[in-house]
Amino acid sequence: MNRWIAKLGVGMSLASTVMATDEVVPHVVLGIHGGLGVDKKDMTPELDKRVRAGLEAALRAGQQRIKDGSPALDAVEAAIRVMEDDPTFNAGKGAVFTHELKNELDASVMDGKTKKAGAVAGVTTIKNPITAARAVMEKSKHVMLIGPGAEVFAKAQGLEIVDPSYFRTEHRWKAIQEILKQEAEDKKRSDAGPLLPKVPEYFGTVGAVARDKDGNLAAGTSTGGMTNKSFGRVGDSPIIGAGTYADNSAAAISCTGHGEYFIRYSVSHEIVAQMKYKPTTSKAAAEDVINRQLKEAGGEGAAIVLDKDGNFTTAYNSEGLYRAWLTSDGKIQVRIFEK
Ligand code: ASP
Repeated sequence: MNRWIAKLGVGMSLASTVMATDEVVPHVVLGIHGGLGVDKKDMTPELDKRVRAGLEAALRAGQQRIKDGSPALDAVEAAIRVMEDDPTFNAGKGAVFTHELKNELDASVMDGKTKKAGAVAGVTTIKNPITAARAVMEKSKHVMLIGPGAEVFAKAQGLEIVDPSYFRTEHRWKAIQEILKQEAEDKKRSDAGPLLPKVPEYFGTVGAVARDKDGNLAAGTSTGGMTNKSFGRVGDSPIIGAGTYADNSAAAISCTGHGEYFIRYSVSHEIVAQMKYKPTTSKAAAEDVINRQLKEAGGEGAAIVLDKDGNFTTAYNSEGLYRAWLTSDGKIQVRIFEK
């Protein structure tokens, strides 16, 4: 694995970071995240404002669907589409660059009632990968389509196709240039040992979990993956049971963080399995998987969890997590570093 990826989230940074599990919030109908975001020291008032506005806009879009009685899946898709279109987040427009200077996108969605799921991976021309993931679930006999096959399918479904340059943003371009420059400097150094990466924006995946009026759950996740990933690398976000899972008998979950760990620890399914078979609460299960298992392994990341009764919790072993939720009385809460 590329060492710029391999270095991320290792014990060194985790040991010193705050671990948190938010208090459980009852009566939640929609919860979202916008990734781990930047380190606290790199947060600017301008970015803070943009992140909060982006999360709120996404919640409002999902809220519309909840209000009109649409299924949970509609709320998940609506909220994620807003964040995919917002260059602030690492999904859709604003996705990070691969080592080969491309934007390769992954997304998945799951319906907690039917346990049906859909995903796309490594796509470069589909404007809203979450909608393509849903189309795979609803209009194909498969669960996951990748690369050109996914794109041909999306086009045939009438989804919006864009030129790959649509996804490019200046700040992500600068980030990859900085990393490549630093990699080149590392190579020249004779004393081995790479410099620590200076670019803070590794994570910014988006995700949503919803519970509709019938008590059905849904979850979805969309991402550009990790900056400087190898071409063809697929993370946890499009993998059902790793980055995304929904099961009406337990919870809906969306994850963000160092994908390789989330795949190896089957994070979203592990949380659901603990809730079903231990059994335990969403908070205890998320705490165990994110703040014990992953932390011990050196995997940085977070999960948002909405249980079958509408209790919402988030667990993260990073400094912060861009997150927000909406309760059935219409109240919105947005958090970044604060509990
Ligand atoms: N989990 C994503 C991946 O590994 C990255 C992220 O959450 O930011 O592709």
